[in-house]
Amino acid sequence: MPEVHARRRAQAWARALDACPEATALLVTSLANVRYLTGFTGSNGVLLLSEDAALLGTDGRYAVQVVEQSPDLSVHLDRATLPAVTSVWHSGGGGVLAVESEHLSVSDLRALERVIGASPRETTGVVEACRMHKDASEIALIDRACTISDEALQAILPRIHAGVTEREVARWLEAQIFALGADELSFETIVAAGPNSAKPHHEPSPRPVEEGEFLLIDFGAAVGGYHADETRTFVIGEPADWQREIHAVVARAQEAGRATARADADLRSVDAAARSVIAEAGYAEFFDHGLGHGVGIEIHEAPFLGPRATGRLPAGSPVTIEPGIYLPGRGGVRIEDTILVAEGPSRSLTTSPRDLVVLG
Ligand code: ZN
Ligand code: ZN
Repeated sequence: MPEVHARRRAQAWARALDACPEATALLVTSLANVRYLTGFTGSNGVLLLSEDAALLGTDGRYAVQVVEQSPDLSVHLDRATLPAVTSVWHSGGGGVLAVESEHLSVSDLRALERVIGASPRETTGVVEACRMHKDASEIALIDRACTISDEALQAILPRIHAGVTEREVARWLEAQIFALGADELSFETIVAAGPNSAKPHHEPSPRPVEEGEFLLIDFGAAVGGYHADETRTFVIGEPADWQREIHAVVARAQEAGRATARADADLRSVDAAARSVIAEAGYAEFFDHGLGHGVGIEIHEAPFLGPRATGRLPAGSPVTIEPGIYLPGRGGVRIEDTILVAEGPSRSLTTSPRDLVVLG
């Protein structure tokens, strides 16, 4: 898709100039940003982007792949990729170099300064801002990843009952995700039983889930480099009153978050819409993370929804809405969907039932 990437590079360059008007080039060192702007997926890549040129650097391992994936670009191969590419640019006239300050190590910065004999200008979030709004082809991949995630979850639910372990559930779900055509997992599957469900990022263990416990499953498929992110919380056997209550509060908060997440909504106000439901129910202190995040080439990317977020939701941006209540030692509930922000009501790309489902 060379035209798509050329269009993205033009947009990114315009944003780079907004951030740093005197720049004559932007050195892109985030692999996700390199992929977005070039289509190249190797594990070593840097892009020197300027008004009328783009130079992609990698090393000899990717000599064939880089030509296949980025046939429209000039490529420079060198094991010391970053200083080598910068040196090519510098000796060709150079100028004022802008860098991605969040994606450059101190040692790479020093190497770069030795090449250009000056300190580069720092920018943050230039390409990430372009990536927030997804085009139709990107949305189609995320939609597919979300559909696979929903179908995989529904396929394994009948196998879950008291006595199965967190790890078994994770492996079943992952196998199903691949069987349905995913390229990779979005991230390491979280399956948390009983008190473990109160730890938002629990790793699946050999612990079996018991009768009367929560089972929280946070997972996702990835297709064509694009991710899905979904969480559902179940109960094994008859739920207790406290379990029904916190699940209902989280479900209401999640619905409020989804309803508020429209194009141009203030990021903080979306978080607040969900958080206030949890606070009014008396559980404010048990919801200790942001409401959601963008989903795309990376599983966590801009925009980030939280109490201290700044900015607005762009139309065409897939984001998660994932409130939770976590009661230490007892258990927790999180309900998470990947939704697509639109001018009118947002559309949820993950669609598994959100009411409290009893398993076993
Ligand atoms: Zn998740
Ligand atoms: Zn998430």
